[in-house]
Amino acid sequence: MERFSKIDSTGDEAKISTDFDSVALGRWIRHYRKAKGLTLDQLASTIDASPSHLSLIETGQREARVTMLAKIAAALDLPLASLMSPPKADRRTELTISLEHAQRSDLYSSLELRKVRVGPNLPNDALEALVGLHQELVRRSSIAAATPEEARKANAQLRISMKKRNNYYREIEAEARNLLTAVKHQGGPLGERRIEQITRHLGFELVYVPNLPHSTRSLTDLKNRRIFVQESGSTGRDPRTIILQALGHQVLQHQPPNNFADFLRQRVEVNYFAAALMISEEHAVPLLQRAKDGRYIAIEDLRDAFSVSYETAAHRFTNLATEHLGLQVHFMRVHENGTIYKAYENDNLPLPADSLGSIEGQLACRHWSSRTVFQAKTPGVSFFQYTDTPNQTFWSCAQTEQTSNGHFSVSVGVKFADSKWFRGRETTQRTRSTCPDPMCCKEPAAALQEKWAGYAWPSAHAHSHLLAALPPGTFPGVDATEVFEFLESFS
Ligand SMILES: [Zn+2]
Repeated sequence: MERFSKIDSTGDEAKISTDFDSVALGRWIRHYRKAKGLTLDQLASTIDASPSHLSLIETGQREARVTMLAKIAAALDLPLASLMSPPKADRRTELTISLEHAQRSDLYSSLELRKVRVGPNLPNDALEALVGLHQELVRRSSIAAATPEEARKANAQLRISMKKRNNYYREIEAEARNLLTAVKHQGGPLGERRIEQITRHLGFELVYVPNLPHSTRSLTDLKNRRIFVQESGSTGRDPRTIILQALGHQVLQHQPPNNFADFLRQRVEVNYFAAALMISEEHAVPLLQRAKDGRYIAIEDLRDAFSVSYETAAHRFTNLATEHLGLQVHFMRVHENGTIYKAYENDNLPLPADSLGSIEGQLACRHWSSRTVFQAKTPGVSFFQYTDTPNQTFWSCAQTEQTSNGHFSVSVGVKFADSKWFRGRETTQRTRSTCPDPMCCKEPAAALQEKWAGYAWPSAHAHSHLLAALPPGTFPGVDATEVFEFLESFS
């Protein structure tokens, strides 16, 4: 406050003298605001002004009072003087200021490099390049800093947004419908020939290679519009899904992900895209509707009608169930050791969550069908169960499948009242679950507790995929050197 009493000794409410360049001032306020990552609304609320007023100041259409300027300067952590005497706002000055800010950052200090002084002899293009490098450094470090905590948080937020839209993505359904119409698909399974047609329709060529880079499932060469995929299906994944997911990134106009949340969202969208092509809404909905009318909805019917895996059919069912059948559902993919790998619900099944709201990596209740199905030891056969919880009863169906990472269960369920639409509702299998109450299944029975507490020292399996720090890079876990060398060998 003392500093600006010199500038204006007549009183706080005096306006800045009229020879002051309010356009340049406004531009500088905007520059500093953006540099601090604040929106117009955020800065306006900090200084108790309306966003429209602040906007007029920033565009130089209104002169700011000194009190206002002092508040703005304080909110932007700047001495008032730097707002009162803004330099000429040409490109070079902007770059100079950006560079000075960047060189003062903790990130730059941590590199222990010398600071570059911007003198008159430093050419503009060098200055541009330096500022560009700093911006890229900030972007990359924010990706590399994706800790398991951030990954879980991103995951939890993504699930909230999926639940909000009932796991139904109208705009992706539309893209899939247009493509299927373009290749005149008549329904039923999407065969390899159709996949080729879709690829060609989008202006890409499929190239099967024996040596795809290890860290990739597919690789798209945007320069020559080629999609490389592994020759033999040794990955255990449906090659159709891999190709459609690769195309999905292009059709949905994805940009290189800015952060881990972006990466996850894109992955969900291309998964959705691939499933929407393989199990088309146009043909699946009438099939499901007929099944509901006849009270025999079954995931395996969807699986068989479209020649997909049980998991793909089960997951796709969650896309269409609420939107088209008015059914709230839950879905889970759980490892034989109880760890949840994927989960979704909009029927209020109490899924376990960690403090950040993430469900992946938590243990599913031992009494849910996603766990009890393993005791039935009937791989490939549907298992049905009613599960009583303190609030309501659920019905669910489950199947197990073997993968190179062990056995997994895939389960889909609904509230008791909706079980009447499903095949398998007559089951007598019934369990009771009170999770998250620790006495349900997480804590050993009292007798066992008494006998063994203090006498067991297990050595734990580490779930490296859940706990390891996420690998850095625009595409987490992808070895860029390997990828570029691969593309180079084909050019
Ligand atoms: Zn439990």
